Amino acid sequence: MTNPLPDSVDYVLLDEASIQRRVMEMAAEISADYEGIHNEDFLLVGVLKGSFIFLADLARRLTVPHRVDFIALSSYADKAEATGAVRLIMDTRADVAGRHLLIVEDILDTGYTLRYLYRLFEAREPASLRTAVLLSKPDRHKVDVSLHYLGFSIPDVWVVGYGLDFADRFRTLPYIAALKPRVYEG
Ligand code: 5GP
Ligand code: MG
Repeated sequence: MTNPLPDSVDYVLLDEASIQRRVMEMAAEISADYEGIHNEDFLLVGVLKGSFIFLADLARRLTVPHRVDFIALSSYADKAEATGAVRLIMDTRADVAGRHLLIVEDILDTGYTLRYLYRLFEAREPASLRTAVLLSKPDRHKVDVSLHYLGFSIPDVWVVGYGLDFADRFRTLPYIAALKPRVYEG
């Protein structure tokens, strides 16, 4: 039995099977690139809260040893608008100096968040710094940031599910769906 779509959901953009398939491919690519790495040296840093499901799935598919840490940022109020200002809510526990860092982020929109993270972590002198991002909205990019592993490019719509929220709702939907514009514009 399949659950009906929540009332606020417009349509499903990426179903569960497509997401799983792509995450598996990304994990295989990352595993190949980091082959031979020592476990203390490879640190995945998930950006809370949006990346928590993506990170859980990606990390469990990696065949190379790794550790997991988190950072929490805030760039939006409960509305679909960018302010450009990024706030650090919670820092990582691990010391990142000398380690190979992989930032795991849910979505690249304007790029301000990733730019902030690059600056923050580069100053701490990791051995290397890369990013794995599940979604990107090319139409919305305002600053240039490099992505190393990208799941999907999507159109400029507000998406929820698979970790992504609107006002902290819809995070645990198993698929990624576009919200009805009246919900976030209203
Ligand atoms: P940026 O700093 O690139 O503009 O924004 C990145 C952050 O904005 C993401 O980490 C995410 O929290 C939020 N964001 C941007 N677009 C969406 C979207 O369509 N849905 C959700 N749930 N969050 C988004
Ligand atoms: Mg985020």
